[in-house]
Amino acid sequence: MLKGAPVRDAVFAELKAKVASVRRPPGLAVVLVGDDAASAVYVSHKEKGCEEVGFHHVTHRLPASTPGGEVLALVARLNADPAIDGILVQLPLPAGIDQEAVLLAVDPRKDVDGFHPANLGALVSGRPRFVPCTPKGVLRLLAHYDITTRGKRVAVVGRSVIVGRPVSLLLSLKGVMGDATVTMCHSATRDLPAVTSACDIVIAAIGAPRFLGADAIAPGAVVVDVGINRIDDPTRPSGQRLVGDVDEAAVKGRAAALTPVPGGVGPMTIAMLLENTWEAYARAEGIDV
Ligand code: NDP
Repeated sequence: MLKGAPVRDAVFAELKAKVASVRRPPGLAVVLVGDDAASAVYVSHKEKGCEEVGFHHVTHRLPASTPGGEVLALVARLNADPAIDGILVQLPLPAGIDQEAVLLAVDPRKDVDGFHPANLGALVSGRPRFVPCTPKGVLRLLAHYDITTRGKRVAVVGRSVIVGRPVSLLLSLKGVMGDATVTMCHSATRDLPAVTSACDIVIAAIGAPRFLGADAIAPGAVVVDVGINRIDDPTRPSGQRLVGDVDEAAVKGRAAALTPVPGGVGPMTIAMLLENTWEAYARAEGIDV
């Protein structure tokens, strides 16, 4: 099992040591609009992470009825705030708000999520600046467990701007954690199991519980399960539990390595968010990144 916690802990320890010797702490602002339960949980994990490494952090919680103009005005204030190095707009935004306009309003130098077109463009051009946190976390997790991607056939299932597309781009770059032969799959891919089972590494970012079974995974393949799906489970006090996009029971023992859900990619996303915030801070302060 490729667990994320030990890697996250190592990243946190490194950041904590760096923060101990600086004149002001790096600052992260989180904008949370509406009352999506999963978003609230993710934001609380991000707050806890900031506390742990000693970052300054502020969460702006706004009601779902907030007009888009007010969210844009808040982002403008955060862009101008010298105590804030990173701005994270928790997605999804409520339906009435133009998500694209809000993401575009974030100063690219503070775009620690890496979703601004300027940062995505830098990634496409092969000179990444802020790399989106989950894709960056996937590669860091693989590197930690000495799983190289050079020359490997990698199937990425999902092409979202948040996960699938940037992870595919990263894997296709020249370099130690790139140099892969990448196949990006999506809902129009024909005979998906035939494509994924021909690959050495499968990265699933679909959002469909236990969607990939044994027929989709080659014996000895490495499986990274990005999916976080809530399913009913009457045996749990909450009546629910989290599962990934891969059928863990079907794939365990067949795959050489597999990320657990929860506890695999999730902790990496937070660690990379804090690392990106440190990078934004270091650039603002003229410290070597
Ligand atoms: P999106 O819904 O934005 O994208 C899902 C992708 O999966 C789309 O590209 C879609 O294809 C593809 N897809 C859907 N159905 C199929 C299918 N039947 N066969 C092949 N491809 C399919 O989701 P995200 O990328 O935002 O998230 C994916 C998952 O990762 C979710 O479970 C999410 O909760 C989780 N996640 C986890 C994070 C973490 O920290 N661990 C962080 C971010 C996300 P198409 O483009 O054709 O519609």
